[in-house]
Amino acid sequence: MTAPPPGPPPERGIFCNRTLNLRAIRAIGYDMDYTLVHYHVDAWERRAYDSIREQLVAQGWPVAHFSFDPALAIRGLVIDTEQGNLLKANRFGFVRKAFHGTRKLDHVAVRQAYARTIVDLSEPRWVFLNTLFSLSEACLFAQLVDVLDEGRLPGPMGYRDLYEQVRRHLDAAHMQGQLKAEIVAHPERYVLQDEETALALLDQRQAGKKLLLITNSEWAYTRSMMRHALDPFLPGGMTWRELFDVVIVAARKPEFFTTRSPLFEIVTDEGLLRPHLGPLKSGVPYFGGSAVELERSLGMSGDEILYVGDHMFGDVHVTKNVLRWRTALILRELEDEVRAIASFRATEVRLAELMREKEALEAETWQVRLELQRRRADYGPRSETPETELHARAVELRAKLEALDAKLAPMARAATELSNPNWGLLTRAGNDKSHLARQMERYADIYTSRVSNFLFATPFVYLRSPRGSLPHDPSMPGGTPVFTSGTPGTGALDGD
Ligand code: IMP
Ligand code: MG
Repeated sequence: MTAPPPGPPPERGIFCNRTLNLRAIRAIGYDMDYTLVHYHVDAWERRAYDSIREQLVAQGWPVAHFSFDPALAIRGLVIDTEQGNLLKANRFGFVRKAFHGTRKLDHVAVRQAYARTIVDLSEPRWVFLNTLFSLSEACLFAQLVDVLDEGRLPGPMGYRDLYEQVRRHLDAAHMQGQLKAEIVAHPERYVLQDEETALALLDQRQAGKKLLLITNSEWAYTRSMMRHALDPFLPGGMTWRELFDVVIVAARKPEFFTTRSPLFEIVTDEGLLRPHLGPLKSGVPYFGGSAVELERSLGMSGDEILYVGDHMFGDVHVTKNVLRWRTALILRELEDEVRAIASFRATEVRLAELMREKEALEAETWQVRLELQRRRADYGPRSETPETELHARAVELRAKLEALDAKLAPMARAATELSNPNWGLLTRAGNDKSHLARQMERYADIYTSRVSNFLFATPFVYLRSPRGSLPHDPSMPGGTPVFTSGTPGTGALDGD
């Protein structure tokens, strides 16, 4: 009997929203950037940021002293292009935290700005930070808002125009050769290799699954990154090209999943293209095309294909919504997130205990208040307790609640600053799920921190979703954890 290898650390688990039997999956499609190939986020984003800054300096903008701040934004935030803010919204779209430019707004300012507003990502006003590639854009936009407010940018210009400028320059930086050429020349500076990925893919291939690479990157960049990330870890001279049955570059996701585009065969290493019709040939890289055509060529239905990617909209949302493919979201930050939650566990338990105390005191306060009201208005059943005693108890309860709030407040604040002092956890907003968490549960059947986590799970795993919890479910022994949705709202914890 083969003893099972030791399980993965908790942060390397595969988490399941909708039950997925990997044995029923016949093809696994992979995104490349930040999925199969992970980058040093700080290095990549700093480089992208610097190249936009240089373009703006050349345009005469006073930004030469700017530098990339990796803590200023996290994935899952929303840019408000109308007000020049960066926001964190909860699962309902209510704004829970906000920065105007690089300045944090207090609760009163957040409420004033957003009391009547719900973030709806289908409106052009909002820009969701879908991927780690969004961090440079968000950071630069926030810093530029400060300069715009000081009247130091050529005008007239509004926040929306400013955002468009940043967007245009970022697009150009990604498309033009210079940034990518630098990364191709020094992949060791930018790519974070994971030697377990190659074995995880080999296991899947040997288990009979077709592996597909579907990336928006160009052929020359893809070839170089895939070689650097996988070839050193494949056995006996094997290369990444032999792992994949289908390779599609410049796929133009999300359009790849929604629209029919012409498909080209890449004929030479320099990227010469020839139009292609008919079934896809193994070993030949393709350019463009569409998912519908790919499905037909594979002879598979959507529920037999799992697509694994890091872009919430382009890789997961559209794929699920339009094609009903099975979906996996790669969220590298999850490792930090799970570790931060674990390290906070003792405080969380203490916080839950104090919250139960607070709830009991509050319940008694409300009873005393009602009793006094009925006496004043002379109606309804009343107790025998003398009125002076009731007043004294009310004062006592208020003092106890204040003392308790003083204990709770720093703990509650610490809960909202876990992982990132500005924004807290990716998947939480206040005491609720974040907007990112909501999208994740809607569109990603499973989510995990990196592709190599499939190694622990094997290609035969049956991933079962947990039974969903609702506010009326009985709480688990030990009380309801602070992080569980369904915890009653509390003064101390409501604010972010
Ligand atoms: P994928 O994740 O493998 O599909 O590839 C992502 C590709 O899109 C990379 O080549 C990125 O450089 C590129 N990319 C990421 N963000 C942007 C953007 O904002 N504008 C244009 N290209 C982008
Ligand atoms: Mg990607």
